[in-house]
Amino acid sequence: MTATPPTAAVSRPDRPANIQPADARGMALAVELLRAGEAVALPTETVYGLGADGLRESALAQIFEIKGRPRFDPLILHVTGLTEAEALTLDWPADARRLAAAFWPGPLTLVLPKRDAVPHLATSGLPSAALRCPAHPVMREVIARFGGPIAAPSANRFGRISPTTAAAVAAELGGAVPLVLDAGPCEVGLESTIIGWHEGEPLLLRAGGLPREAIEAITGPLRRPEAVESSPLAPGQLKSHYAPRKPLRVCEMGATTATTAPESHESTERVGLLTFAGLIPGGQARAGSFARVLDLSPSGNLAEAATRFFSALRQLDEDPAIDRIIATALPTHGLGLAINERLARAEHA
Ligand code: AMP
Ligand code: MG
Repeated sequence: MTATPPTAAVSRPDRPANIQPADARGMALAVELLRAGEAVALPTETVYGLGADGLRESALAQIFEIKGRPRFDPLILHVTGLTEAEALTLDWPADARRLAAAFWPGPLTLVLPKRDAVPHLATSGLPSAALRCPAHPVMREVIARFGGPIAAPSANRFGRISPTTAAAVAAELGGAVPLVLDAGPCEVGLESTIIGWHEGEPLLLRAGGLPREAIEAITGPLRRPEAVESSPLAPGQLKSHYAPRKPLRVCEMGATTATTAPESHESTERVGLLTFAGLIPGGQARAGSFARVLDLSPSGNLAEAATRFFSALRQLDEDPAIDRIIATALPTHGLGLAINERLARAEHA
């Protein structure tokens, strides 16, 4: 394939995506586009992000436009370190500093009161801003060379399955984004865990790629925003999200058997099963009734399941030999919590 010159790097939704390797040339092109106020798709350790200048309203507007994301859903600003995060926020609780020291760079987002430099569009008008210091070397290099915070939600159309490969970004956005930097599959595979504070108390605003238990070892027990009276709910946590185009049902599992009925499927319907640790709803004897079975981790490793989760869901969704999807719920500890929450929101008839 011949290299695409920078002059071709304009938004063309009707064209195929411009995927470039995340080498020095690719990163230079990404920085050039970011400086020009464009949005570009970038690899991170969580999922691929749609990045744009975090301090420029017109660039942020492109993110909302390309994703079809409602403007009430605020963005996460990505920075290279604590100093850069402090320049955008105020009033760090002691726990926020401890968490940043323990888990940055990594899949943890902190929501803190914002400084004036952060545009209202980045925070959907909220007085707080969401900050993350990513670990992926390409994302870090792009932010450092760009020289400022990069706002980057997942690089998918709003409400759809998050992309964990450049090909998945291309399937979602095509040429609507002028550049997709390809650095291979994402290592964590789930969006960041989001922590905020309400009257000094830490809240788990979103389960994600950093297990709740790891955070609680530092902060003590975390509450959910819905459990705290008068706390503003995390915006953007809409009930339906991460949704495949095909119907998806979640099946609660006991140790080896389904605890919710896997509801008999029409014999003519071809059902794809997304499972974990070899579990088959209704028992092993029913394995043959599924048109396709994808096991997120046959050995029962939750980190491996997280890495594979979104791409497996996408594979079943794109498989023409499958009409609908059944997914088994995972154990609720570690990364299982974040996967289950995504499954619950992906569920639809
Ligand atoms: P993502 O879609 O992965 O970019 O994550 C964005 C999510 O972070 C939003 O949907 C909110 O739930 C959360 N978030 C971002 N900014 C704030 C904020 N200022 N206050 C509370 N939650 C926020
Ligand atoms: Mg997203």
